[in-house]
Amino acid sequence: MIKSRISTEWLSGCSGCHIAMVDLHEKLMNLIDDVEFVRIPLFKDEKGYPEADVGLVEGAVGSEHDRKALLRMRESCRKLVAFGTCAVYGGPSGIGCLYGKDTILNKIYMDTVTASADGKLPEGAPELEQSVIPLNEVVDIDFYIPGCPPHPYFIAIAIKTILGDSVPAISIKTVCSECSRRMEKREGVQLKRGVSTASEEDVCFLSQGVICLGSVTLDRCRAQCPCKGIVCTGCAGPSIDIIAEPHLDIRTMIARRMNMLTGIDRREIIDYMQKEARTFYSYALSSPVIYRKPSVEIKEWAGS
Ligand code: SF4
Ligand code: SF4
Ligand code: SF4
Repeated sequence: MIKSRISTEWLSGCSGCHIAMVDLHEKLMNLIDDVEFVRIPLFKDEKGYPEADVGLVEGAVGSEHDRKALLRMRESCRKLVAFGTCAVYGGPSGIGCLYGKDTILNKIYMDTVTASADGKLPEGAPELEQSVIPLNEVVDIDFYIPGCPPHPYFIAIAIKTILGDSVPAISIKTVCSECSRRMEKREGVQLKRGVSTASEEDVCFLSQGVICLGSVTLDRCRAQCPCKGIVCTGCAGPSIDIIAEPHLDIRTMIARRMNMLTGIDRREIIDYMQKEARTFYSYALSSPVIYRKPSVEIKEWAGS
């Protein structure tokens, strides 16, 4: 049997997406019967870019190295996958878009006790891009697997889909669709700031005055966080309606829903979410999906 060839690469990310591949456990073992990993930095010392049927790329593009590596992956792989939220939306790495490259380099190499006395960057310091951007700002992408990191179930389903196997349809609903908590109307609830959990285990966080992003986040995790006691922080990226509708946005949709449930003034919720934009927009703030929305001023809200 001819095996399908898979190649992987990581750019500006934390390697957590590659670790998630290890978490596939038996599913990865089953896949290995069908596929050959011709390049996978976690397991194999392959510096080149062998030809492959599928390429999985973790991380955003933040440096000259990232851009070159991504172009090599695009050239060498028949289908290219943006693997994880950094690759799809910029993810946590994308916060680099709030600063210029000089600010970042100075912070790392110059504003430290070990900075060189001649005031120059050390030899070998990376050539950074002016910003940190998702993969599809540089090359064409065939498939997207968001998640920080992606859930093993969805990795397995996605790889099988790309290889042409028959698999269950993947839902495009939000995290709320899988959450066991019930939304209830409440009176006298106050907005709780800086909080990520609440006392009642079976009631929606929004009903208890705590911001949860489940209703504006694509379900790629089966509601892991709210089902285990903490709010959804949106790590799988925006829901389909937010992606598709330029005038829908995270803060306004949350404010509308929370106001309906608790009566808390929408403006209070919106102001709070804008002030804490680095938290509430942390996974997609460098993505055009968010910053090109006419009502979003992400650099102003979250800027340094
Ligand atoms: S998506 Fe999350 S786990 Fe993957 S590289 Fe980015 S920060 Fe790490
Ligand atoms: S908003 Fe959060 S807690 Fe409420 S139903 Fe949705 S995911 Fe569950
Ligand atoms: S519940 Fe939200 S934050 Fe938690 S894993 Fe799922 S998408 Fe990510």
